[in-house]
Amino acid sequence: MTNTNQTFRIAVLPGDGIGLEVMAEGVKVLRAVEAKLNGMQFELQEFSVGADEYLKSGDPLPPATFEAIKAYDAILLGAMGLPDVRWPNGVEMTPQIDLRERLDLYCGLRPVKLYHAQDTPLKKYGAGEIDLLIVRESTEGLFSSRRNKIPAGAEVATDTMKITRHTSDRLFRAAFQQARQRRGLVTLVDKANVLPSMAYFRGVFDEISREFPDVRTEKVYVDAAALYLVQRPHRFDVIVTENMFGDILSDLTGGLVGGMGVAPSADIGDKYAVFQPSHGSAPDIAGQGIANPIATILSVAMMLDWLDQEETKRGAAMIQRAVELVFRAPANRTRDLNGLLSTRQMGDLIAERITGVS
Ligand code: ATP
Repeated sequence: MTNTNQTFRIAVLPGDGIGLEVMAEGVKVLRAVEAKLNGMQFELQEFSVGADEYLKSGDPLPPATFEAIKAYDAILLGAMGLPDVRWPNGVEMTPQIDLRERLDLYCGLRPVKLYHAQDTPLKKYGAGEIDLLIVRESTEGLFSSRRNKIPAGAEVATDTMKITRHTSDRLFRAAFQQARQRRGLVTLVDKANVLPSMAYFRGVFDEISREFPDVRTEKVYVDAAALYLVQRPHRFDVIVTENMFGDILSDLTGGLVGGMGVAPSADIGDKYAVFQPSHGSAPDIAGQGIANPIATILSVAMMLDWLDQEETKRGAAMIQRAVELVFRAPANRTRDLNGLLSTRQMGDLIAERITGVS
């Protein structure tokens, strides 16, 4: 083993609702991994961002915080937003989406993996047979209209699907690179038969695909993709799609492997990256200590992988392995997966697995 003696600085944004509870377990697991890595340290600094911060300061993402977190090597986020805390115009605050746009985190990686056959509503699939990655464009697409103002009394409301060449190029290259490290298939999900913007998206995809002759490609309309994901999820490897389609399909695929509590994500740009569970602040279960921390713990693994050092990659693999081992026992489940474990007990189990393995 080489002694790398490296310190990574991580900005930790627990956020709102269950964000605080699941983040505590994510940090616990990161500390357990840190103790196993050779010469690798993590300096964590917490920042208050989200609906609760809005109640305190009037801004869910204060400018000073935004500037400060940019100086960190990576950003770890819990969940943000609360249904009762809204802007004066009634819209919910979503600083996590603001972060994606302002930090140019165009590439949303959402791995979907079934650890145990008991956790899928599709009972005919065995563990390991659902293993795909959604690459979701995260800064434009249909979400680009989210700041549209519809005048009171308007008779028509229109949103725009924005697709740019610059972002699509980078998104597709990222998807092809991911496929090279996986099973070598990229599926473009679009609606090119109806929407001109999607036909344009497809054209860019075809161009970029020529740079990756070793990667197989296919194109599926989004409606058919929803069907195939339920009927034959094992046929997919990497799915690349626009923002809104990716938002919807990643909830669907989360459902295939046990729900949002096991769905991690990474929002990656050329300079910055944010790692967070795919779920929201889940106010319905917040404060009860029953949220599933697995999505956050797996997001910590994605962060370690992205930090791209031999030792951090080893740490990421340790977390993956610990989750796999813990999930082997059907009783090791939180409430969302019909188990009895609390958030903290699940975090403890994963951390103990890591502490116990070399
Ligand atoms: P957002 O729009 O902010 O993503 P949402 O409205 O889609 O949020 P979530 O907060 O993701 O909703 O929650 C959706 C459902 O999933 C809720 O019933 C919630 O209790 C459940 N849920 C979400 N995350 C978890 C978790 N980590 N553990 C257990 N249940 C969860």
